This record gives sequence, C-alpha cells and structure tokens, in this order.
Amino acid sequence: MKIAIAGAGIGGLAAALTLHQQGFDVTVYEAVRELKPLGVGINVLPHGSSVLHHLGLNEQMDQLAIRTRAVEYRTRFGHIIQSDPRGVEAGFAFPQYSVHRGQLQFLLLETVQVRLGPDAVVAGAALQHFEQVGEKVELSFADGRSAEADLLIGADGFWSLVRAQINPDEGPAHYAGTMMWRGACEFPQFGDGRTMFIAGNHDVKLVCYPISEEARQRGSSLVNWVAELRQDAPRAAETADWTQSASLEFLPFFSEFLMADIDIGPMFESTQNITLYPMIDRDPLTGWTQGRVSLLGDAAHPMYPIGANGASQALVDAKALAEALSNNPTPQGLLDYEKVRRPITSKVVLANRQYGPERVLDIADARIKSADDRIEDVITAEELESVAAQYRARAGFKKASE
Ligand SMILES: Cc1cc2nc3c(=O)[nH]c(=O)nc-3n(C[C@H](O)[C@H](O)[C@H](O)COP(=O)(O)OP(=O)(O)OC[C@H]3O[C@@H](n4cnc5c(N)ncnc54)[C@H](O)[C@@H]3O)c2cc1C
Repeated sequence: MKIAIAGAGIGGLAAALTLHQQGFDVTVYEAVRELKPLGVGINVLPHGSSVLHHLGLNEQMDQLAIRTRAVEYRTRFGHIIQSDPRGVEAGFAFPQYSVHRGQLQFLLLETVQVRLGPDAVVAGAALQHFEQVGEKVELSFADGRSAEADLLIGADGFWSLVRAQINPDEGPAHYAGTMMWRGACEFPQFGDGRTMFIAGNHDVKLVCYPISEEARQRGSSLVNWVAELRQDAPRAAETADWTQSASLEFLPFFSEFLMADIDIGPMFESTQNITLYPMIDRDPLTGWTQGRVSLLGDAAHPMYPIGANGASQALVDAKALAEALSNNPTPQGLLDYEKVRRPITSKVVLANRQYGPERVLDIADARIKSADDRIEDVITAEELESVAAQYRARAGFKKASE
C-alpha cells in the first residue's frame, strides 16, 4: 500500500517512520525547496518521547536534547510557586525532552532518508489539490507535478491545504490576543541546567529552558526563551509565520522581572535572531477523515503552545496512525485512527485555551504583591497540585500513581 504524506515537519516525518516500520511504502511531499533547521525550542513530553524511543532514536535524542528534570512556575519577582518534576523524575517511563525544533526535524529527516531511501522525501512539492478517484488519491503540486497514492495524510501544519480542502468552510484561525517573541542564545546555565521556568502571569509571561545537551556538557547552556504579551483582543487571524523577525520592543513590559539565577535583560539583548509569532489555534473539527484522506499533527489539531503538547501530540498521532493502518490497511483504518486520536487532541486544544497547567501563575500573581511576600503564605500545595493533575488528565497523560 502506497501512502503519501504532505509535509515534512515533525509529524509528517515521524509518521513516515512509524508507517515504514509497519511495512508501508511511504513518500513525503514537502513544500519547501530546501529544508532548513528552523524554529527554536520545543518540548517533547513523555507520551511523545515514547514514540521516539519506539523508533530507536533514544540515543540520538539523549545526545541532542536536554532531559528536562522539572518545570518551575515562578512569580515575576522570581518566587518559585511550584516545581513540577518532569519525565522520569516524575515517575513517567520516558523522559521529557527540551530540544531545538530544527535539530529534531533533521534527526527525523536523516532517519527517514536512511531507512526509507534518499528519495522518500520530495522537496519543493507544495501540494495544491487532491482528488479521490476510485481507489486512488491523485495529488497535484504547485509546480505542475503530480503523483498518486492509496492514502493521503495531511501533515502540512497549521495552514494545512488538506484540512482546508476537507473543510472548505472553516474560516480563519483564532488569535487569543497574545504575541510571542522567541529566541535562543548561548548563556550561562541557570538552576541545575535541566530545569525550565515559566514566570509572570497570563498577560506578561516569560518561558526559559535549555535545549542543547552538547552545550550543557560544556558547562554552558543554549537557552530558549519566549516572552509573551497579551495586549490585543481575541479575533480572527489570517496569517502567521514562524520565521517573522522582530526586535526588543517587548522589553519594557518585563522591567519588573527579576530571576535570581539568570540575568534576563542581557539574555534578551545577546540574542541574535528574535522571531514573533501570534498565539493562534483552531476549533476542534468534527471529522479528520474523508475517504482515503486524513490529517495529522498541527493540520489535525492546531493548539496554543501551552503545556508543550504540539510536537508531542503529532508524535503520538504518528504511532496511532501506523497501528490503526497495520490492523486495517483500508480507509476504515484512517477512521479507526481518528476515533482514537480526535477526542483526546480536541480536549487538549480546549484545555490549552483554559491556560492549562499555567493557571497557577495567575493564582499566585493575584496574591503576591512584592518580592518580600512568601509564597507559602498565599497558596496551598493542594491547590497547586489539583491544577497540574487536572491538566494531565485532560491532556491524556497521567503519572503511574494517578
Ligand atoms: C518553520 C517552522 C518553525 C517552527 N518553529 C517552532 C518553534 O520554534 N517552537 C514551537 O513550539 N513550534 C514551532 N513550529 C510548530 C511545530 O513544529 C508544530 O507545532 C509541531 O511540531 C507539530 O508539527 P507538524 O509536523 O504537525 O507541523 P509543522 O511543524 O508546521 O510542519 C508542517 C510541514 O508541512 C509543510 N507544508 C505546508 N504546506 C504544505 C503543502 N501544501 N504541501 C506540502 N508541504 C506543506 C511545511 O513546510 C512544514 O514543513 C514551527 C513550525 C514551522 C513550520
């Protein structure tokens, strides 16, 4: 059975590997002419890491990525509201990885080229239209080329053409009013070199985490940071580009932020490449599959990058798709895959709109008024754990004890 995948992002490439493992003949069509290791940091949660381990990529991941030990939720004055252990330290069977998106994408790309062959990824092939004819899907690309497959998986990201063709009336994306300035720079290690922190509140928030094991081994850190500002009213968004350049216009909003272990002003200022991206998502769909065509990753369930679930859920989709098709290599197999994955990912999309596990930031922010206040005087441990446990349950991953 010949399966075409549109999009060589993390989801599309992982699906090529899981489907190949099950013996399918897979070709990935990627719009970009020359893939470059774009983006900055992303997190892969234990349910996503389990897929990478299942693909035999654990050693490579351990060389590239930080095994994140904990996430600290902090006030803008640097108080630690909660330190939530992560990965194996939290009792999961697999680690949480913090990694450069481009490096993870290239690890998957090179693995696809080795395992499936050098021609398995066709670059410069922007899918423009598909047509289901009999038992085949005919693909037309923007440069005039065409191809044919038995099944098509749209892993073509947030602005998915496949999703748009299946759901022509969907309309624009939702923009929540938050912009994210992002960057990564080499900087002295903070904390234990394996901890991520999220500080501030819903309107003004800073996320920092190390993403390079190679830098950590040298005693340094490649720190990924995201400065978020919610200024605008929620509205529809027509465009968004992960590569849009920006500068330090957000700095004045972070003037009160003071972290004991990292000098954030110099960190921002020494970052060479800053990008700007709006926090956008889409309402969950009532169906992903139309005949021989289905969706995966951001094309299926675009979500706010809260709770580190975007790449993780794409990886879990890839494994579920291969399992469903190996049990039933027909269009019904696509429906079986959707039946497993759509309810879970729809819940994550909606949970992220409720601000996910980061709700503790607003609870503390409303009660802490100065650097001299004590966190334990204003918020209880039970209150904090109940927020984190609710998100774990909604996002479909639980500690062994839950
Ligand atoms: C350039 C880029 C940079 C990013 N940087 C970050 C980041 O720094 N941090 C973060 O959290 N998330 C980032 N993301 C998003 C993140 O990768 C995804 O949320 C997550 O990994 C799920 O991946 P995906 O494979 O579903 O989608 P994506 O990673 O978006 O991949 C989709 C792929 O499909 C290709 N494509 C699009 N249209 C077509 C078409 N018509 N035909 C063929 N191919 C098509 C795209 O070029 C892309 O390679 C980035 C995405 C991109 C594309």
